[in-house]
Amino acid sequence: MQACAIAFDIDHTLAVDNKIERIAFLRLLARIDGEGGTMLGTLDQETGAIDALLERQRSGAFSIDDAVRRFVGERGVAHPKPFVEHFCEIVLSLVDHIVVPLPGVPRMLTELRARGIATAVLSNGWSPLQQRKAERAGFAGPVLASADIGAAKPDRRAFAALVDRLGLPAQCVWYVGDNPCTDIVGAHAAGLRTAWYNAEGRSYPSDLSPPDAVITDICDVIGLVALPVGS
Ligand SMILES: [Mg+2]
Repeated sequence: MQACAIAFDIDHTLAVDNKIERIAFLRLLARIDGEGGTMLGTLDQETGAIDALLERQRSGAFSIDDAVRRFVGERGVAHPKPFVEHFCEIVLSLVDHIVVPLPGVPRMLTELRARGIATAVLSNGWSPLQQRKAERAGFAGPVLASADIGAAKPDRRAFAALVDRLGLPAQCVWYVGDNPCTDIVGAHAAGLRTAWYNAEGRSYPSDLSPPDAVITDICDVIGLVALPVGS
């Protein structure tokens, strides 16, 4: 039996987003300042606060809408709803300008499509952004976002939703990602096969479950589907 589907992380696997959400928050800061709100510190301090807020949001502590509400509320904005809508508009408008597919990704995806190999994306984040980022990377298949699933990587429920969507046994699905903790450990625990994308010559943490394969060129995922299960 051969593995018959490949699923991907997005950030630093298919594309880089160049801190698109941080940029959108900084744009909001300008609007807050212009509408009578109050900055809480210097621009460097505000950037640090934005990064900390986004880190908590990505860990699943709250939604991106809630992150925007918290951000503007802490800066004296009484009616956050227009800011939430504005934030989403800013981010989505920036995708084509800021998100960049990683080298080899469009060619690799074209090759997988030509071979009829099922693919999917599983990414932590809010759905419209993850969808647009995947499209920007040239990915045309299903995109699952943690905000819709209700669980974020490395939670095995996120990977279970991915496997359900593909309609295959977990051991027939490869998950390809750059993050040992969220991608490799999570997918391994859920029974998927794992490929660590290590484009930067990093060392894999010795205390984590190891990947089934290590690739340094994203096009090497094409060879994964030729590996029989259990190899
Ligand atoms: Mg990543």
